[in-house]
Amino acid sequence: MSTTPPAFKGSCMCKSITYTSSTLPRNLTCCHCLTCRRISGSDYITFLSLPRSSITWTSGESSLTRTSYSDMAVRSHCAKCGSNMTMSYHFEKDDVGIALGSVEEDSVRSNFPKVAKHIFLGEMGKLGGYQVPDDGTKRWKGHTDVFQKLVDKWEADVREETVEHPHLKW
Ligand SMILES: [Zn+2]
Ligand SMILES: [Zn+2]
Repeated sequence: MSTTPPAFKGSCMCKSITYTSSTLPRNLTCCHCLTCRRISGSDYITFLSLPRSSITWTSGESSLTRTSYSDMAVRSHCAKCGSNMTMSYHFEKDDVGIALGSVEEDSVRSNFPKVAKHIFLGEMGKLGGYQVPDDGTKRWKGHTDVFQKLVDKWEADVREETVEHPHLKW
């Protein structure tokens, strides 16, 4: 057992599901897409980008419930309280997006990166009057150009049936 304290810890609202991360997030992204808005009930979800190997589920992994709203990604939430926990893309199966709202702020050991970009501003909700702050971050109508290339490749691979879905649980 490693005695190194985690970089940060997190949990769902009911604390059935808890996790530790061995590393700080590489970056933070606010996603304004319709799916993120629907499932969060809010204007956007902020995701932390991390290697999957950084995350250890310390309790409740069996309560993580998998949902897919597209054939390229998997999301998970707590079966008991409904908290959004993760989002992963099949073509980036060594990475995971962790919902920022799950982080236990008191557990963060050193400086967390600030939000680096806003994506899917083309699907941004208008009803609440929310404005993206003038925070110097990068802004994208959909995915970033680099990520869109990964999406395009995945879609081509699926069409040509050269990939199998890895059936990520979270
Ligand atoms: Zn829960
Ligand atoms: Zn989204």
